[in-house]
Amino acid sequence: MPICANCRHRWSFRETLRAMYTLKPTMTCPNCKQEQHLTSASRKRGAFMPFLILIPMLLNVFFEMNWLTLIGGMLLVAVVFNLVYPRLIEVTNEEEPIW
Ligand SMILES: [Zn+2]
Repeated sequence: MPICANCRHRWSFRETLRAMYTLKPTMTCPNCKQEQHLTSASRKRGAFMPFLILIPMLLNVFFEMNWLTLIGGMLLVAVVFNLVYPRLIEVTNEEEPIW
């Protein structure tokens, strides 16, 4: 879970999830209201994660799954992503270049 670089507040799971799904590139600390930027490592992980949703589709190529299993697999990946990714987020005060 991210820890605010400004006030050292450890974000709760719910606060992190809410901040993840805004259109802003920054995340606002729920404690001190300071804008926080994702670290470049966090952004790289975040850019890679959505590709996990393709795994059930890839498996479908090799094992003929019915559409219900396929949709269920994609939903499962989406749920796991939302449970895991907020725990991997780190934030800083300064914006870092991604590479
Ligand atoms: Zn803060």
